[in-house]
Amino acid sequence: METADKLADGRGGSAVAARSGIPEGMPVTGPIPSSSGAPIPAPDGSEPHDQLVRRLTVLSGPSGVGKSTVVAEIRRAHPSVWLSVSVTTRPPRPGEVHGLQYFFVDDAGFDRLVAEGELLEWAEFAGNRYGTPREAVIERLGRGEAVLLEIDLQGARQVRQTMPDAQLVFLAPPSWEELVRRLVGRGTEPPDVIERRLEAARVELAAEQEFDTTLINTSVQDVCRELLTLMSVQ
Ligand code: 5GP
Repeated sequence: METADKLADGRGGSAVAARSGIPEGMPVTGPIPSSSGAPIPAPDGSEPHDQLVRRLTVLSGPSGVGKSTVVAEIRRAHPSVWLSVSVTTRPPRPGEVHGLQYFFVDDAGFDRLVAEGELLEWAEFAGNRYGTPREAVIERLGRGEAVLLEIDLQGARQVRQTMPDAQLVFLAPPSWEELVRRLVGRGTEPPDVIERRLEAARVELAAEQEFDTTLINTSVQDVCRELLTLMSVQ
C-alpha cells in the first residue's frame, strides 16, 4: 500500500519501508532516485536532472502570515501546481478534511512514519508534529511537475540540507502588528496556543535571510502571482 493510501485510510503508516531511495541525510543535488534507487530520466530527455529538483519550492513564514490562504488560492487557480499534503498530529480545525488540508494521524501513526523513513522532513511546532510524506514529492518531481511545500522554518532548513537546489521562499507579514492581528483575529486557537505561535513567529521572522526570496503578504493575489513566477508556472 502506498504511503498516501495508508494515510488516506487514516492508518498513518504500517510496515512499508521508505521507497524514495534517498538515504537519510543525503543531499539530493543531481539525479532524483526513483523508488528502486535508480535515477529517474528527465521526462523529455532534454532537461538536466538538477532542474527537476529546482522545481521544488518551499513556502515558509510565521504562523498567521497567510501561507495556507496563498496555498488554497494556488490550488484553486493553478491545479497544475502540485501541493504536498502534510501529516500532522494536530486535531482538525472545523472544516478541515482528512487528506485535503492534512492527513491527521495520532502520535503512534506519526512515530511509525518517522521510524519507517517515510517523511522527507518533519518538525514539532507549537506542541504538534508536522511532516511531509516523502514518496509523493519524489514521484512528482521525477515526473517534472512543479511541487510546492508549505512548511515551517525547521522543515525548510531540513529541505535546504537534503535538497540544496530547492527554492526557499519566505512569506513575511506587512508588519508585526498585522501578524498579531491576523493570528488573534482568525479565532482558531486558544490564547496559550496563540502565545506559543507568536513566540515561534519571532524566531521565524529572524530567519528570513536564510531564504532565497521574501514575498510580503499585502495581497493574496499578488503573492500568488509572484510565487507562480518564481516557480516558472504560467
Ligand atoms: P497549522 O497548525 O497552522 O496548520 O500549521 C502550523 C505550522 O506548521 C505552519 O507554520 C505550517 O507551515 C507548518 N507545517 C505544515 N505542514 C508542515 C510539514 O509538513 N512540515 C513542517 N515542518 N511544517 C509544517
